[in-house]
Amino acid sequence: MSNSRRAKKLTHCLERLLKISPAHQRIKADPIEFPRRYQDQREIEIAGFVASVLAYGRVELFKQTLEKLFALSEGKLYRYMNHFIANQERPRFKGIYYRFNTEEDLFYLMALMSRVIQDHGSIGTLFLSLYHEADEDIGPTLSRFVAALRKYLSKPISRGLSYLLPSPNSGSACKRLNLFLRWMIRPNDGVDFGLWKEIPADKLIIPLDTHIIRIAQYLELTSRKSPDWKMAKEITNFLKRCDPHDPLKYDFSLCHLGISEACPIAYDPQKCQVCPLEAVCHRDKPLLKV
Ligand code: SF4
Repeated sequence: MSNSRRAKKLTHCLERLLKISPAHQRIKADPIEFPRRYQDQREIEIAGFVASVLAYGRVELFKQTLEKLFALSEGKLYRYMNHFIANQERPRFKGIYYRFNTEEDLFYLMALMSRVIQDHGSIGTLFLSLYHEADEDIGPTLSRFVAALRKYLSKPISRGLSYLLPSPNSGSACKRLNLFLRWMIRPNDGVDFGLWKEIPADKLIIPLDTHIIRIAQYLELTSRKSPDWKMAKEITNFLKRCDPHDPLKYDFSLCHLGISEACPIAYDPQKCQVCPLEAVCHRDKPLLKV
C-alpha cells in the first residue's frame, strides 16, 4: 500500500477513535486532572508542571504524592511558590517522597520552581522567552528551558531530580515534559488548555509513554528500537501525515486506549473486533523490544 493510502486509512481510523473516545470521562484517570482544577493561567501552569513531572508509575500512587504536595499550598500552588521561603518550608516536606524521588528531590523541585515564578512571573513567561520560531520542533526550546531550571540549583543535581528534569540534549524522550507542553500548547479541546498560543501545535513531540510505544508499534508508526527522542519524533512525524497542524490531537485517546485496557497488553480478540483501529493494526506481527 502506498504511503499516502496508508496515511489516509490511518487518519480515518484515528478520527473514529477520537469520536468514540470518552475523553472527558477519562480526565479523572489522568494527571491533567490536577491543572484542570484551576481557572487562573498561572495556577494551571504550575499545577500542570508539578503534576506532569511526577506522572510516572501507577496513577493512583503518584496522585497520592501530588495531593500531599498540593496540600502544602492549600491548593494554591502559584501563590504558595510566590511566597516560598526555602528555609521555612524545608521541614514541611518531611515524609513526602515517591519511588525514585526522595523528600529532598521534591523540596528542591518546588524550591527551584518558586525561583522561576519569583524571577519570571510564571513558567510560561520563561518558556516563551526561550522559544525560537525557526527551530524545527520544540526540542531545542525544551533543552534551553531545562538548562535554565537546572541553573537554579545551588548543588549538583541528584539522580532523582535529574529523572524529573531530563533534556532532549541527552536523547531522552522527555515523556513527562512533552506531556506538560501538550497540555499548555495544544488548542483547548476540554482536555488540553491551549494557553501558549505563541507556539504552534505542530512543534510538539508526542509524550512517549509505554501505551503509546506499544500501540504505535501495532500501527507500524515506528521501526526504532529505543524509546528515545528519535522514536518520539518518528511517531509524531507519522501522525503529521494525518493532521499536519495538530498531530498530537490523537495522543490522549491513543494513550487512554492502553490505560483503560480497551487495548490490553494480553491479546484479546474480542476487544480488537470493536476497536476503531482494527483495520490498521498489525498486532499479530512480533513487537520490538523496548
Ligand atoms: S485492534 Fe486490538 S491490538 Fe490493535 S489497537 Fe485495537 S485493541 Fe489494540
